[in-house]
Amino acid sequence: AKEDGRNIYRFFEADMGVAVKDRRELITDLRNAVGNGELELYFQPQYCLRSFSISGFEALVRWNHPTRGLVSPADFIPLAEDTGLINPLGEWVLQEACRIAADWPQHLRVAVNLSPRQLRGHAFGPVLIESLARSGLRAERLELEVTEGVLLTDSDDVLNALHQAKSLGVKVSMDDFGTGYSSLSYLRRFPFNKIKIDQSFVRSMAYSDDSISIVKAIIGLAQDLDMSTTAEGVETKELLDMLVEIGCTEAQGYYLGRPMPVAEAQELIFSVDQA
Ligand code: C2E
Ligand code: CA
Ligand code: CA
Ligand code: CA
Repeated sequence: AKEDGRNIYRFFEADMGVAVKDRRELITDLRNAVGNGELELYFQPQYCLRSFSISGFEALVRWNHPTRGLVSPADFIPLAEDTGLINPLGEWVLQEACRIAADWPQHLRVAVNLSPRQLRGHAFGPVLIESLARSGLRAERLELEVTEGVLLTDSDDVLNALHQAKSLGVKVSMDDFGTGYSSLSYLRRFPFNKIKIDQSFVRSMAYSDDSISIVKAIIGLAQDLDMSTTAEGVETKELLDMLVEIGCTEAQGYYLGRPMPVAEAQELIFSVDQA
């Protein structure tokens, strides 16, 4: 048994070594990813539930790693946040999303995800203004998605940056609503334009009446606060029908469309335009 324990320990140690090396390598590679053109934006359609037409797309970053293949943002965004690389990366995402959306029909919006760190300090305002100016995208067509973690930092910088964005006409959405510890108190601290109802609530509506009640309550709350609602993670027609029924504003999810490369998004926009 003693022998076993040592082996397990050795195995564990070796494993940790790999994990640390892996992380270090990924960070080195990530440093060059923007410059090497390895990042790409995918776009997932968001549908208006009144008109049943596309109202915009959420930009989701992808990393085409030269040897590892496609790396998920869930694996590299946290690394980018820890190392500060999120600032150049996030700047690239914002500029690229604005540049691409500027070519779309004028009624379509683009939503960009922001990490808390991008809003700290005083750099975000100028980056935002430059992205809009360079691309020619009207501010009203841009949405910034922030999670409640953004307001956790309790810094004036963050609130100032969000207020500046709003004063330019940019929309601000609260992402993953309901998953944090104090979603409700954040609604009081910042006047969001939109609440994105987290996938976990949406998915569980299929088998839980309590979840339906919660989503209904979120939608009612949003209406009272003059905010719109987007349900995320809509994977079935059944869920879509329920969301229409209870008055959700928009929906997004695999049933309606997966995140896709820009050329495919363009095709989708064009095919709908022709219909
Ligand atoms: P998120 O902002 O909550 O984005 C939604 C995620 O759910 C996306 O994963 C999307 O592909 C996935 N999704 C959409 N519809 C469905 C569905 O019907 N079912 C299921 N199971 N999943 C669905 P993705 O693209 O892997 O992104 C993961 C997270 O990485 C995002 O979560 C966001 O927090 C972060 N992220 C992605 N792009 C960026 C970025 O440019 N900047 C920052 N800061 N974070 C980003
Ligand atoms: Ca998002
Ligand atoms: Ca989300
Ligand atoms: Ca999320």
